[in-house]
Amino acid sequence: MHTPSTQPRPSIYYRYEVFSPWLPSAHGPQDRQQVVIVGAGPAGMVTALELARHGVPSVVLTAELQLSQGSRAICFTRRSMEILQQVGVADRISAQGLPWRFGNSFYRGQRVFRMEAPHDVHDRFWPIINIQQQLLEQYLYEACKAHPLIDFRWGNKVLHLTQKDDHAVLEVDTPEGPYSLPSHWVVAADGGRSGIRSAMNLAMEGASYEGFFVIADIKVDLPLPTERLAFFDPEWNPGNTILMHREPGGIWRVDYQLPPGETPEEALQTESLKARIDAQLAMIGHPGLPWELDWSSVYSARTLTLPDFVHGRVIFTGDAAHLLPIFGVRGANTAFQDAQSLGWHLAFVVKGLAGPALLANHSAERVGAAREIIAESGKSTRFMAPPSPGFRLLRDAVLSLSLQHDFVRPLYHWRTSRPHEYTHSRLNSADDDNALFEDGPAHGAPPKNVKLGDDDYLLDHLGGGFDLLVFSEDAVPQSLQDTVAAARRRGIPIRVTAIGAAQPVTGADQTLADGSGQVCQCYGIRQPGSAYLLRPDQHVCARWLKLDATRLQAALATALPS
Ligand SMILES: Cc1cc2nc3c(=O)[nH]c(=O)nc-3n(C[C@H](O)[C@H](O)[C@H](O)COP(=O)(O)OP(=O)(O)OC[C@H]3O[C@@H](n4cnc5c(N)ncnc54)[C@H](O)[C@@H]3O)c2cc1C
Repeated sequence: MHTPSTQPRPSIYYRYEVFSPWLPSAHGPQDRQQVVIVGAGPAGMVTALELARHGVPSVVLTAELQLSQGSRAICFTRRSMEILQQVGVADRISAQGLPWRFGNSFYRGQRVFRMEAPHDVHDRFWPIINIQQQLLEQYLYEACKAHPLIDFRWGNKVLHLTQKDDHAVLEVDTPEGPYSLPSHWVVAADGGRSGIRSAMNLAMEGASYEGFFVIADIKVDLPLPTERLAFFDPEWNPGNTILMHREPGGIWRVDYQLPPGETPEEALQTESLKARIDAQLAMIGHPGLPWELDWSSVYSARTLTLPDFVHGRVIFTGDAAHLLPIFGVRGANTAFQDAQSLGWHLAFVVKGLAGPALLANHSAERVGAAREIIAESGKSTRFMAPPSPGFRLLRDAVLSLSLQHDFVRPLYHWRTSRPHEYTHSRLNSADDDNALFEDGPAHGAPPKNVKLGDDDYLLDHLGGGFDLLVFSEDAVPQSLQDTVAAARRRGIPIRVTAIGAAQPVTGADQTLADGSGQVCQCYGIRQPGSAYLLRPDQHVCARWLKLDATRLQAALATALPS
């Protein structure tokens, strides 16, 4: 019998609600589901919301009766906000979060690098916004609860999974005992310690790093702006690194590296935490400032991924699929991109609009993303916590040269999480004009946002199905309209957006004016009649200097393999 804790988790700034468990006796025998998602973290909930947006129902199971403990992921990127906008929670995050775009690196008390993340008039969202993971999970949970296609089950812990030819059967334990839950597809979003991954004996590839970091959230009244602070080789923690971030609710995150040999248990002793946080506050010019501990944990960096995310009827996503270092804010930010990708790929397979090749594509694209992130974040990790004397020598040389020489300072750049470009995706059209464009987002790239007016941006109007952007003030040619109508009859969601005209364009579902020519400029448009095809996750899969119906048909067929 599963007995999840009913004691609200402690927190200074967040009141945990303990939810009632979903009990099988109140619902009777379970029919076979389309999709069961194991795990209600960021990956599981965004996958459920994406599936629902594509009309596919799901059951979400979580072992716990509460949202996750501690702030965990606190920095969310612009691309994450664009994804969260699609599932309806970005406004709530913007209202509560702390946006920022500057980072400061200090070496021996001197600021040696100031990072400025790009931000221009066309960006609806800031490069990064800080908010605690519990708040983000609360907004996601409330969106799931409000959606009729999502059946959310608190206190349901998966014990076993058996795979059959065309479905899987889960044995789920609850506070009144177990029940069986068959499903065509299972999404394993059960986190870094995924029990499903272990039970299936799946090995991850990559590296684990030895150094430990303490993560401590404190309530403290620090008169500092919301900017990232990184301290290398500081006085009170020689040879090591410290990071600080501001969070909503008067909370500051202090992450500090432990000297070799110190155990996590020793590091989390009250006296040890107190001495180090006092030393850090003194070092930044606020000795004796009163503070209160909210949550602390110990972290070590890993760069690991499964080499394939799809195993029969089970698809791994988020931390269950890969473990990425927090340097460069990768954990949850990568999970959102996984979930957005999985949502549409799985939905189209469930609806019979594409075959297993589409799921294989999801795996190939997201494993590719994980490997790229691993290569990049490995560099950040080796800079933050050098794993050998050689790396330490190199890092220390950069640190000491940076006191006087500008040229080494960009080496401090922390390589923030950024969206992966599916440049070589099999979904990219083979006979379009991608190579002939001089500018604009190319094959596999995410779209560029463009400000259209007050509080009105291009991406507000796109997403959820295929988007055909036609850059013309003339009526959409009849042959193109017929191709779109035929795709819709097959159940493929596709919206035609005419860009440029002040008045509605015949044959388009919506018309967006482009008086200043900004959209044309950002998309590298040189002649009327050019067009882009965006996939349901908004990434570009085809673009043409001049579109015709045959090539549109071919692009849709390529994007939906059997
Ligand atoms: C201590 C800590 C600190 C972190 N700090 C940062 C940070 O500073 N920055 C950052 O970017 N990332 C951080 N992360 C990582 C970030 O929290 C994760 O990347 C993110 O939560 C991934 O989301 P997920 O949905 O894949 O997994 P999780 O959020 O871990 O969710 C897993 C879900 O699966 C459920 N579950 C597990 N097993 C079962 C089962 N058998 N049956 C049913 N349900 C089950 C859990 O209850 C939970 O709902 C931190 C993580 C931890 C643990």
